[in-house]
Amino acid sequence: MVSRVIPVDPFDLVIFGGTGDLARRKILPGLYRRYLAGQMPEEARIIGAARTEHDDAEYRGIVGDAIREFNDTPPQDGPLEDFLDRVGYVMIDARGDEGWDDLASRVREGAIRAFYFSVGPSLFGDLAERLHRYGMANDAARIVVEKPFGHDLASARALNDVLAQHFEEGQIYRIDHYLGKETVQNLMAVRFGNMLFEPLWNAQYVDHIQITVAETVGVGGRGDYYDKSGAMRDMVQNHLMQLLCLIAMEPPAKYDPDAVRDEKLKVIRALEPVQPHHIVRGQYAATPTEGGYRDDVEAPRSRTESFIAMKMHVSNWRWAGTPFYVRTGKRLRARTSEIAVVFKDTPHSIFGPEAGGHRNVLAIQLQPNEGMTLSVTIKEPGPGGMRLIDVPLDMSFAEALGPEAEEVPDAYERLIMDVIRGNQTLFMRGDEVEAAWAWTDPIIAGWEARNDVPKPYDAGSSGPEDATALTARDGRSWREIKS
Ligand code: NAD
Repeated sequence: MVSRVIPVDPFDLVIFGGTGDLARRKILPGLYRRYLAGQMPEEARIIGAARTEHDDAEYRGIVGDAIREFNDTPPQDGPLEDFLDRVGYVMIDARGDEGWDDLASRVREGAIRAFYFSVGPSLFGDLAERLHRYGMANDAARIVVEKPFGHDLASARALNDVLAQHFEEGQIYRIDHYLGKETVQNLMAVRFGNMLFEPLWNAQYVDHIQITVAETVGVGGRGDYYDKSGAMRDMVQNHLMQLLCLIAMEPPAKYDPDAVRDEKLKVIRALEPVQPHHIVRGQYAATPTEGGYRDDVEAPRSRTESFIAMKMHVSNWRWAGTPFYVRTGKRLRARTSEIAVVFKDTPHSIFGPEAGGHRNVLAIQLQPNEGMTLSVTIKEPGPGGMRLIDVPLDMSFAEALGPEAEEVPDAYERLIMDVIRGNQTLFMRGDEVEAAWAWTDPIIAGWEARNDVPKPYDAGSSGPEDATALTARDGRSWREIKS
């Protein structure tokens, strides 16, 4: 039932930072899986480019090791060798001139050329400028940039400006890997491919919406980076905001990159500033056996949040008065990402108060298992009179689509293939990113002005008590965090 794989056109993919963590964990294993799926044509070339000295053979060894380590299933020698035949390496200094002539000579005329900037954002300008200077930035060229795209509005604007000096907006692919997830795209299919939901998708029928992205891990080895960022910058400004946009946006006229992105932008612009008492920030506390957030980041007085919960409002005709409760955090009870659309009670219960209040909930799970559940109210079986219960209409994609569903590409694979195909629908446009920062900046500035200190929460919990109160005050409750 999974659609047929159509090979993409011949391409040269240059991965700047090709020896780095992201390239080894995600990009290269993802490319290998697309090769195995038959999507990569014979003429495809992958060129790693980084600061360390390697020849082609050594780099192939690094790539092979990365695939053995990070691919879910161990690769077979034959296909892996065949894939590695397509791989080469150029030692390059993003800030100097070393390696650039070599790279220019390897990039072929006539093939699509994609340049993946898998390096820190401080190098984006240097790379863009040199691609231009060394004649590689032709019309067929496209660049892929990773998060974080800026630290605030000013830095995001500066990045947009520096990239715009050398590339058109239609050549710039800003990755948010959440948008590459199968279920996230399915959100659009469910909303706009069915008659069933869209008429109800508004303030009149929806009581509220919840978005939860919960992790069980702490900041791990990323403490230094994370402490300068926090949950708001690291998760809300990009991933959660994108999910909210897809849930809240108006139907675009077409499934076309600018039509979709125009509608998402309107949602971000319609977001009201969040009241300080509608925000709860938290930091995970130490346990008897493990350190807390401040131990992990080695900053005993850190005020960075590892958890945030917010009540947000989209101020437009469709959503006036409907709260969007959004939360994300580390070291929580379970690893799960879920969007829940909670519908209103029926206007009148013919079964009387003893039947209890029941609500339809459409819950969309993004991880760990992608799928959807619609809870519907039915009669409890048996002779006990008209008692109502809620039962789930479950649609696990793995079950519904059969074993082939396991071959659905992961987010990075899909997005890289979209870059080669020239489809920007699932990438953020520059104005979207800036609008998201324009909404985020004053909230963060408010915390700084007030010296706001995050509330401690227990590792393995659902976050600080105040987060529970955020919904309880409105007579609502968060859905349980469970995987
Ligand atoms: P990394 O430190 O592991 O790798 C950096 C790479 O850049 C190395 O290959 C290094 O050789 C190369 N490099 C550094 N300076 C260079 C220079 N002057 N010239 C040429 N090459 C140079 O970093 P990473 O974790 O792979 O992250 C890369 C980017 O992706 C960062 O912007 C990061 O924020 C982002 N990102 C990473 C992850 C992840 O899971 N690792 C997830 C999301 C986003």
